[in-house]
Amino acid sequence: MPEAPNNTHKNANSYSVAETNKKAFQFIEDVTTKPDEVQKRVLAEILSRNANVEYFRRHGLKGQTDRETFKKTMPVITYEDIQEDINRIADGDKSPIICSQPISEFLTSSGTSGGERKLMPTIEEELGRRSLLYSLLMPVMSQCVPNLEKGKGMYFLFIKSESKTPGGLLARPVLTSYYKSSHFKERPYDPYTNYTSPNETILCSDSYQSMYSQMLCGLFQYQEVLRVGAVFASGFIRAIRFLQKHWTLLCHDIRTGTLNELITDLSVRESVMKILKPDPDVADFIEFECSKESWQGIITRLWPNTKYIDVIVTGTMSQYIPTLDYYSNGLPLVCTMYASSECYFGVNLNPLCKPSEVSYTLIPTMAYFEFLPVERNNEVTDSISMATSLNEKEQQELVDLVDVQLGEEYELVVTTYAGLYRYRVGDILRVAGFKNKAPQFTFICRKNVVLSIDADKTDEVELQNAVKNAETHLIPFDAQLTEYTSYADTTTIPGHYVLFWELNVNGSTPIPPSVFEDCCLTIEESLNSVYRQGRVSDSIGALEIKIVESGTFDKLMDYAISLGASINQYKAPRCVKFAPIIELLNARVMSSYFSPKCPKWVPGHKQWSSIDSLP
Ligand code: AMP
Repeated sequence: MPEAPNNTHKNANSYSVAETNKKAFQFIEDVTTKPDEVQKRVLAEILSRNANVEYFRRHGLKGQTDRETFKKTMPVITYEDIQEDINRIADGDKSPIICSQPISEFLTSSGTSGGERKLMPTIEEELGRRSLLYSLLMPVMSQCVPNLEKGKGMYFLFIKSESKTPGGLLARPVLTSYYKSSHFKERPYDPYTNYTSPNETILCSDSYQSMYSQMLCGLFQYQEVLRVGAVFASGFIRAIRFLQKHWTLLCHDIRTGTLNELITDLSVRESVMKILKPDPDVADFIEFECSKESWQGIITRLWPNTKYIDVIVTGTMSQYIPTLDYYSNGLPLVCTMYASSECYFGVNLNPLCKPSEVSYTLIPTMAYFEFLPVERNNEVTDSISMATSLNEKEQQELVDLVDVQLGEEYELVVTTYAGLYRYRVGDILRVAGFKNKAPQFTFICRKNVVLSIDADKTDEVELQNAVKNAETHLIPFDAQLTEYTSYADTTTIPGHYVLFWELNVNGSTPIPPSVFEDCCLTIEESLNSVYRQGRVSDSIGALEIKIVESGTFDKLMDYAISLGASINQYKAPRCVKFAPIIELLNARVMSSYFSPKCPKWVPGHKQWSSIDSLP
């Protein structure tokens, strides 16, 4: 197997950018030249290590490690198929159920099952694989943008709350797990992981204190900043919004060299005070720029040496491109990697390309990848629905990494070192090209998802159930919901879900606004845990219901038919993205209502409520 680049340098003197970059390129070259060989070995390694796990015995795999037997014997699965096994592990069963190595923790995916976050098993060594993928990003980037090692990155990185399963395993998001690991905290000197945010500010669990201190350090060191970013576009925009609200306090701290007393976390205070010195000139400069009426180009004005914005703007995050373009005067938007809680997948080898042209090269050492061909059946909503279980014939249709066809779409299926076997990730990818013999994929969409603002992924069924629960508030007024649709409104910061409702009102008592507000809240309470967490942490705004004139949905149908939809098969889409349709709906809004408060949310799964949540 090709050697992973080994960054063991301890200090600035022994660090050679050229040497490290060379190793990374050699690794990429090696694994993309012989992806099939690497994949075969990865699968054999996973299967031989785990030969004795209960899951294999159950399905009749008896120690064989070849692809053919594996594919013939093992089913292609979704989360629900292994939920019982996951629950046993979560409850404390330490026997080798799915993996011979101990499950070290669960990574809480933003995908949900039954309204709760999915729990993805992981093992200690996976941290090494994640670090490996990270180590490839800057060598690739530095090929396109020189001299990045001469300055800093201003990245807004955050940890989220974590909880413990009844059996005592930690359950937390993958990035929280990574930032808290020694791989991140004790990373050896590397000019490419030289951030303006001290580790303590990233590791602070209070999101206000974390954001405030990271922004303060980023502003104070503005001249050194060569690149800025966050994980998702929505997170970066939230940081700009924070600056809009709090720049006077931040300027005061820079002017006086003191830290606002709302920052009470002692380790954060200590780390910031090592950086901050009184600097009235910097404070004047920031005040001058922030007090201008227009915030257009604020990123390039405040951090003038910035070369690009490093955020994911592929998939649903593409809805934030216009806002980022506005704040940055069109700086390049760079999507460097594609990853998930299940496993990290790949990197973008052409990071300066347009967001619409981004493709990710899957790194064949990360996991064993298979691809399920996709037939598109719904161009209007851009969502793809696929059966949750596959028949025997469909199970045989999966192809290997090197057998995918240019231009075709596939659902990604992974077999990981941590105990997921032929697991459907739920992402739809299209083959856009090849690096040597390794395919490169454009991210098309997440299967079945209709609405998303931040990490939330709401599917049509969840939305339908939530609307059904809310509708009950209309019964006393003899009113019925006749049609509805939705869209993710990202013109507000944070973005929010909007539902267009058309009603049939028979009763004579007018429906008071408070009833519609109750409807909004009931929908929010009925949505999944990731949505509700987003609301509580203010990364998603209050849900809005817009009541439209009667006859609006007929107009929508007429419009869809004029665009070529079949009259016989027409169904009102449950989510709309096409701007003229949103305009058509907005032009017929009679009144609108917002959720009056946040829905309830607690860390961890509902059924673990007896277990103390960690901060
Ligand atoms: P999670 O399991 O919560 O970490 O979410 C992982 C999911 O986020 C993936 O399966 C994708 O649906 C989405 N995702 C991750 N990286 C990207 C990317 N670069 N572009 C688009 N979507 C992404």
